[in-house]
Formats: sequence, structure tokens, C-alpha cells
Amino acid sequence: MTIYMEERLEHILCKFCNKPTALHVCLECNSLFCESCAHMEVSNYYFCSICFSSDIRKLRRINKDITKLFCGNCGSSKVKEGKQKLQLCPACESKKFEHIYTHQRNLFLKYREFGEKLNLALEESQKFVKSLGEYRDLVLKLRSQGYFTFPFLEKNLLEAYSSFDNIEKQLIERESLYLSILRQYVMDFLNKKQIHPYLFKNYNEKLERIDAAYTVYKTGVDKLFDGFKNSFEEIESTLKSLEENKEQFEERKEVLRLGLKEKPICNLPEITCKLNRSSFPVKTGRGHLFFTNYRLVFTANRGLMSKNSVKLFELPISKIVGCAIRERKFSKKLHLKTTKGLISFSGDMNALKEFEKHVKFMKEWQQNCVKEDIIEDLKRCKITLSEIKRKTDRDIQELLDNKRTKMFPVVLRPRFRDDIYGTIGPIGPIGPRMRPRLRHMPSHVAKKIERLRREKHSILKTIETLEAKFKSGGIPKEFYLQKYRNLTAELYQIDTQLDELNSIER
Ligand SMILES: [Zn+2]
Ligand SMILES: [Zn+2]
Ligand SMILES: [Zn+2]
Repeated sequence: MTIYMEERLEHILCKFCNKPTALHVCLECNSLFCESCAHMEVSNYYFCSICFSSDIRKLRRINKDITKLFCGNCGSSKVKEGKQKLQLCPACESKKFEHIYTHQRNLFLKYREFGEKLNLALEESQKFVKSLGEYRDLVLKLRSQGYFTFPFLEKNLLEAYSSFDNIEKQLIERESLYLSILRQYVMDFLNKKQIHPYLFKNYNEKLERIDAAYTVYKTGVDKLFDGFKNSFEEIESTLKSLEENKEQFEERKEVLRLGLKEKPICNLPEITCKLNRSSFPVKTGRGHLFFTNYRLVFTANRGLMSKNSVKLFELPISKIVGCAIRERKFSKKLHLKTTKGLISFSGDMNALKEFEKHVKFMKEWQQNCVKEDIIEDLKRCKITLSEIKRKTDRDIQELLDNKRTKMFPVVLRPRFRDDIYGTIGPIGPIGPRMRPRLRHMPSHVAKKIERLRREKHSILKTIETLEAKFKSGGIPKEFYLQKYRNLTAELYQIDTQLDELNSIER
């Protein structure tokens, strides 16, 4: 197939001279043109005569009239002026054009990329279900370890689970609505045995239409999941703080010694117990306060390690009557009212407010913790993507089927073109275009070498295709071996001839 296309390439008509030598396609106006019809723009430019970099900068002197040039790459001041030649599209003077072959390949890649993008519905669902599963596992794990706060976690997750059916239904609806058109375009293209350069314009326009339709489709799909963004963010940040809370409790496990039915609730680092006006045995000081459903435990670190913390005091929940923040000009205090008098704490306002919140939370523990049956509900949640997968598989996988896409293998631009025409880079040497190896050769020899190289290239490609066909079981072994032998013999002959001609060159 490749060979067929390359041979055809040689006969593509240049839009301007009508000779079958077109080589480039303009990316702006889609004109096909040949090397000799390409317009040439000549401009002056500076380059470094030491490293040939064209990154030349101006050094401003005190006197504004004198500017000195230097190389931005090596710093040399040996800057020379040269002429730069740039090829332009003869129709629109654009500098943006590609080799026809490259363009064919790029078009193919773009269409294929679209084909892959059509998996959007499935990919987005997979992402959604994956996050949901991860959150669920973490929530269930924390619950099983005795952390029961933030019942909204289950509520949000259950909601997300139950909405998936509806999302899936809408995804499938949208899919059939937009995808049927997109799919047809992509399918038509990928099914082509040959992307004819005369039709580049058509294919490029279609690509634009596909792009627009895809954007509409994607917006619709995104919208379906958008509603869960906030909910998922909230779940994620809550899970993070729950994990941190857990870490604190676990680090001080030895000091806290939670009872069998005792549940950790929350903790408050960095608070100072100022004054004890109760008859409880309370040690004042700066420390870390822990709240459980049974009691309040005040600990302090001995040394830098949290492992070495000690208990300053503890207070059963039944002895706590209430608490209030007292704010004066220079002091903020929290008075913890107990059955046996006041205990005062100080800290910054945020910490005190947290404290107040936590006490309330702890007192109303029953209402604030998650219910067992809801955890059970979450455990039962399950999503299967099989329906949407079946649908996308049928619609899209078929499109990206390997058999079809492999018909357009990765083929590099034929080498001989570079050898013969050379390239004009932005920092090329000045003067006529270089034809590196064939420059000083009699023209008939050069032509012969060129022809042989084409032939060699074409044989190599045939061998490649032959091997691929044999490997995929497309042709019988005898045929393959015979063909292979003939081709390698031909190749050998060409190589010998080339060697001879090349020795003339030297
Ligand atoms: Zn031409
Ligand atoms: Zn330089
Ligand atoms: Zn153009």
C-alpha cells in the first residue's frame, strides 16, 4: 500500500506549473506545489562565524549610535552577515507548508486521535467510578477503625452512587446523538486506502467540523460530571483531615489508652490550660487536647517527640457542663464549666472556637456520628461499567481496530529527497542551496544514483510489507520465501551498482 502511495506521489500535479512534481502542501491554502514553483524570500540575517548560531544580540554602548553585535550562544563578536532564503507558498506566500507525505501522515494521525477521543464517555465514567471507589474504601476503612465523624461522607457517596445510573443513561444518549456523525467521518477517513493529496482540502475542512462537534459533545459530557466536583472535593478534604486526626490519636495511643467502646472524635493541638478552679486534679500547661465520646484528655509532649507525651489530666464527658469564650481586650479565654468548678484555657481565637465546637460535638456525639445501617448501605454499593463499555466497544473500538490502522504504517520521509534537494534551515550557510553529495557529479550519474536510491527504497518498503503480511498470516510461507528471495537479490544488485557509482563520486 505504501509503495502504491509513494509512486502516486511522484505524479501529483503542481497547481502552478502543472508538472507532476508537486512536493509540498500549503497549510494555509492547501495548494500543492513543486520545489521550482515555490516562491523564495531572501532576507539578510546575522550569524556567528565561530559557532554558526543565529542568536545574535546587540550590545548597547554609551553612545547610542554605536551598537556592537555578539553571539548569544558562544559570546563571540565575530558576527557575519548572510542571506537567508525561505521558501513560500506561491499562492498565499505562507511559510507554513509541509511535505505532501508528511501531511498525509499528520492528517491520518489527527483522524486517529479523534477516533481515540471518542472514548470520552467511557473514560470519564471510569475516572468517576475510580474516585468513587477510592473514597468509599477509605471511608469504610476509617469507620472500621472507629472513626465515625462526618456522616455526610456516606450521604454524598451514596448520592453519587445512585446518580450514576442516570448519568450513564444520558451518556449513552449523548453518545448516540453526537457520536454517530463523528464516527461516520472518522470511519470514512480511516477506511480510505489512500488519502489523496487533491482531497487534502476536503479532509482538513471535515476535521474542523469534527473538532467543533466534538467540543459540543465534550461540554455535554463534562456537564454531567460537573455536579460532583464540589462534593468530591469536600469528601477529599474531609478524608484528609480525618486521616490526620487518626494519625494524632495513633501516635499517642499509649497515653490515651482508649477503652473498648471508646471512640476517637477529634483533637486540638496547641492550647494552654491556664487555671484550675475546680477540685479535679488538673495539671496546667501547654498541650494537646483529645476528644473522645467518653472523655477529654489533655496531653503534653516531653521533648520533641510526640511519642514521649504524657497525660496532664482527663475529664469524663459527664462532668462537663458547658463552655464559654470570654473575650477581653488583651486576653481571650475559654471557661470549661465542670460539675466541680471552672477550668480556664487560653489560645488564639480560632483554637478557642474550635474547642467550643468540639465540646458541643462531643456532647452530642450520638447525633453527630454516622449510623451503622448507612455504612452497610455504602458497603453494598456497586457500579458496573459493562453497559457503557459494551456500547463504546461496539461503536469505537471497531473504529480503532488494529487491522485497519496498521494499513497506514509509520513511514519516514524517503531519504533520497534530503540527499538531493538539501534543506534550507534558518541558519544555513549562505549562497546557492547545497546539494551535498551530488554537487560535483556529472548529471547523468547523479540521475542514475537518484533512480537507484528510489528503487532501493521502494524494495525495502516492499520487503517490510511482505514481512508484515507474512507475520499476520496473510500470505502462505512458500510465496513469502520466494518473493523474499527475489527482492533481496534485486536489492543486492542495486547496492552493487550504487557502490560502483559512489566510487566515481569520490
Ligand atoms: Zn510547479
Ligand atoms: Zn557563536
Ligand atoms: Zn498557500
